Amino acid sequence: MEKIIDGKAIAAQMRQGIAEDVTVLKAAGTIPGLAVVLVGEDPASRVYVSMKEKACEQTGIFSAEHKLSVETTEAELLALIDALNGDGRIDGILVQLPLPAHIDESKVLEAISPKKDVDGFHPYNVGRLVTGKPLFQPCTPYGVMKMLEYSGVKLSGKNVVVVGRSNIVGKPLALMCLAQNATVTICHSRTVDLPDQVRRADVVIAAIGRPEMIKGDWLKEGAVVIDVGVNRVGEKKLVGDVEFASALPRVSAITPVPGGVGPMTITMLLYNTVESAKRRASGKSV
Ligand code: NDP
Repeated sequence: MEKIIDGKAIAAQMRQGIAEDVTVLKAAGTIPGLAVVLVGEDPASRVYVSMKEKACEQTGIFSAEHKLSVETTEAELLALIDALNGDGRIDGILVQLPLPAHIDESKVLEAISPKKDVDGFHPYNVGRLVTGKPLFQPCTPYGVMKMLEYSGVKLSGKNVVVVGRSNIVGKPLALMCLAQNATVTICHSRTVDLPDQVRRADVVIAAIGRPEMIKGDWLKEGAVVIDVGVNRVGEKKLVGDVEFASALPRVSAITPVPGGVGPMTITMLLYNTVESAKRRASGKSV
């Protein structure tokens, strides 16, 4: 196992496999399709959406962009989602978050057909994950699981500490690790003595959003560290939730920031879209 887990390389390898699957699907008459919906002008959201479009293009996935004005009403957005749910060319629907304040985010996410919910945020898909029968799994945590798999890290019987319990990262990650037979501890802002919890971990997954909070001397010798955090310090520098320099000498493997988990998120969006297209092509119900 490489000591520094290279997210860019794993993402590139996965994207190549996805592009090959797309070629096979197309040859058999199915073009995988992703609808990307953006409401408003949020600059960060626009960047994410254009990255997603580019990634679709590179892997041969058809992407339908719906860029709507900030004045779009909730009813108009729900009508668009309804149309996309019924559109036979579309395998995945992604609504870029955050939505403008006048639109109820949960209502919109719940309007997406669970069969096209490539972000995995619909309560139906959350329930499938909880019950150990996942359909679509959320992209960032799913990307973490793929990184562990590609790096040869086996979780069965290991102590995994997940720091962070958000619905989009920490909680689904804990469930995914549990499904792989890890003994999972979920820590959060009310956890007493976080360093002590982290010290017990064979695998530490940090999804906090606090620059370099986890220090090297909190880690067990030989631990594997996955750092989901992306924190901007100063003008341009990005750091993770783990202090990389002090962690590196103690760990058996660690993801850097940037170049770790980051490149995996969009890759898993492409992956979920192609899996959905495969289901459409095979006529399998879910
Ligand atoms: P949230 O803010 O939704 O959740 C943060 C979690 O960290 C909460 O559960 C919170 O606990 C916990 N936390 C906060 N402070 C502490 C503390 N001092 N000690 C212990 N736990 C603490 O963030 P997200 O889950 O959305 O994101 C987490 C990080 O991952 C961010 O840096 C984000 O930028 C990054 N991220 C990266 C992605 C990627 O593609 N690489 C994608 C998504 C996110 P509590 O619940 O008690 O408040």
